[in-house]
Amino acid sequence: MSSAPAHVLIVGGGGTGGALAHDLALRGLAVTLVERGEITSGTTGRHHGLLHSGARYAVRDPASAVECIQENRILRRICPGSFEENDGLFVALTEEDMEYLEPFLEACAACGIPTQPLTPAEALALEPNLNPDLKAAVRVPDATMDAMRMPLRFFATAKANGARILPYVEVVDLLVRDRVVSGARVRDHVTGREGEIRADVVVNAAGPWSGKIARMAGVDLPIRPSPGVLVAVRGRLCNMVLSRLHRPGDGDLIVPQRGLSVLGTSSWTVHDPDDLGVPEDHVRTMCEEGARLVPAVARAERRAAWSAARPLVGSRGEAETGRELSRTFKTFDHRESDGVEGFVTITGGKGTTLRAMAEACADVVCAKLGIDAECRTRETVLLPHTAYYTDGR
Ligand SMILES: Cc1cc2nc3c(=O)[nH]c(=O)nc-3n(C[C@H](O)[C@H](O)[C@H](O)COP(=O)(O)OP(=O)(O)OC[C@H]3O[C@@H](n4cnc5c(N)ncnc54)[C@H](O)[C@@H]3O)c2cc1C
Repeated sequence: MSSAPAHVLIVGGGGTGGALAHDLALRGLAVTLVERGEITSGTTGRHHGLLHSGARYAVRDPASAVECIQENRILRRICPGSFEENDGLFVALTEEDMEYLEPFLEACAACGIPTQPLTPAEALALEPNLNPDLKAAVRVPDATMDAMRMPLRFFATAKANGARILPYVEVVDLLVRDRVVSGARVRDHVTGREGEIRADVVVNAAGPWSGKIARMAGVDLPIRPSPGVLVAVRGRLCNMVLSRLHRPGDGDLIVPQRGLSVLGTSSWTVHDPDDLGVPEDHVRTMCEEGARLVPAVARAERRAAWSAARPLVGSRGEAETGRELSRTFKTFDHRESDGVEGFVTITGGKGTTLRAMAEACADVVCAKLGIDAECRTRETVLLPHTAYYTDGR
């Protein structure tokens, strides 16, 4: 006699939740994912769209850098056609930047990130709009992706494998009794109805909102929402991803996206991820610093400015700007960390590491449920993003 598969409820329809729905569906579990807005409407749909090589983090955050280069390679394999394989250039403009060159090359090598040092003339031949006073540049395997469409491929494939994806359904409370989570109370914003969804395990994949979801189970999660401002200007001012060759800082990144150039980003910390704002001084800094890398930024017309919050793991403290917190990710089995059963959180990480985050979290979920099923997401080529809308469900 066959018994019904274990049921997992995922809270949050960003890249992390989508990749987890895909992983668990492939392992044969029953999956429901609820997202309070449209799929990818949180941080996922608002980032630069940089497929990180990991070079940005190699010097100060090698664990995150290694995750990025590994996932960069896997994503190119399982999401063919989703990336502009344009590479990135780290550009030295000052003597201080030049002091960063050797440690940067050494750290990239230690993390397995290929680099190609270029002379100023070679860099300008590749990117004629670069600041002509540059002193050196290093080519790395960064790339541009569509921040929404790449994750949508995980949702499309999860759906095709039986996962239930429910946008506009918000978790308003968790069902908790005797420190056991058994599901969630949800509100459907389309019908206005409230109801309950029961599950064997509830996974909190709510990104910068994961602290709020955890509090519904009486859990104090060590994460900080850390927003950053992004500015899009009209015109494709570069074809490669351009970064300053120095410690990650404000406004040191330009990502070409279709006919636009996206300038980023800043970093501060907040308590409420729904209340970020777009500080005008940050917008100014993005434009000023961007113009140091590519002088044409100063004359470009502004298309949009917005902000999004990172879910950074590691601190509940007040003082951080967020830059000092690692970009790596963490899975919390709240039975181990807080004595609360049936509840797991996956948070932190990057858009680039969504698949690895899902694998680590699915391993924890399966171990909790006593399910012995291998992860298959490294090899499974994903459906195109259009399949999310066209499968007739
Ligand atoms: C400024 C900035 C730039 C970045 N640039 C890059 C980049 O170029 N490349 C890269 O790889 N990474 C980048 N990142 C990091 C990346 O954006 C995030 O790591 C990633 O998007 C997080 O995805 P997530 O699914 O964990 O969170 P989210 O995408 O935020 O998903 C969480 C979801 O939970 C939903 N939710 C919240 N509360 C509830 C509830 N009660 N009920 C139901 N649903 C709920 C939210 O609506 C949201 O959609 C950037 C981050 C920032 C802030």
